[in-house]
Amino acid sequence: MKIKTFSLSIFKNLYYNKNYQFVPKHEPCSPDSVSMLQDFVNKYSKVFVLTGAGVSTESGLPDYRSKDVGLYDRSPNRPVLYKDFISKTEVRKRYWARNFAGWKLFSSAQPNEVHRFLSLWEQKGGLHWLVTQNVDRLHHKAGSQRVTELHGTSYVVKCLSCPNLFSRNLFQIILRDLNPNFNVESTEIAPDADVHLDPELAKSFKIPDCEKCGGILKPDVVFFGESVPKEKVFELYDKVEKSDAILVLGSSLEVYSGYRFVHAASEFKKCIGIVNIGPTRADKLATFKITARCGGILPKIKL
Ligand SMILES: [Zn+2]
Repeated sequence: MKIKTFSLSIFKNLYYNKNYQFVPKHEPCSPDSVSMLQDFVNKYSKVFVLTGAGVSTESGLPDYRSKDVGLYDRSPNRPVLYKDFISKTEVRKRYWARNFAGWKLFSSAQPNEVHRFLSLWEQKGGLHWLVTQNVDRLHHKAGSQRVTELHGTSYVVKCLSCPNLFSRNLFQIILRDLNPNFNVESTEIAPDADVHLDPELAKSFKIPDCEKCGGILKPDVVFFGESVPKEKVFELYDKVEKSDAILVLGSSLEVYSGYRFVHAASEFKKCIGIVNIGPTRADKLATFKITARCGGILPKIKL
């Protein structure tokens, strides 16, 4: 795979810390922005928060869409489509071989100050509910409890034919035992641990079926082309209605599954705040929009 070379101008805008290599070019946040967000946090006591990949890029996990630093701009890799995963054995082998090679690095990612801020905000009672589009468990690692993982989690493997669910860490051991000579460990990191791998290597990768029913095993992640379960969506609409404001952090809201909650908040006439480096699909619905890196502004907010 050819990774597009970063331009010098991008490097100038990045901090010299490997954890910031996937943060897009941005300006520092202004004092006015800090006081606007501080007023919001002071005023509302039941905030519905929606986080996206922009919150995890500061933990060293790339997103898909950001200019220059997102996966789509750096690599020809594209996420696996649900219909291909369930219908083609070779696609499943390739997915799991890549995920196996990337798991150690992906699962070693640690929460950053944004995750810690949100966990503390929940403890102090101002955060009503947190919805994340990320599958990396970093909000849980930071101690958040009132969390819904909108697109599921990479940390759980499930059977598509029976209720069998088990930990992804356990699956790593099962895959290791099935593939004792597969010694590829990626130094590259990708959203959902889906790293690039020589296709020939993936062909010989062995994957197990469900030990209870022989069904297909899949990460408990909503793939592209798959829908978020309806019950989960309705529960979240209810939480939006019961909140007094909504705050979007680090998401362009390009994907409808997250955008719909901001749209619902707009219908409910709630205050809508957005903090994101780039434009978002909901900018027109926002009560206020702050163009900033989440980790550049949230640690400046007093709880
Ligand atoms: Zn099963």
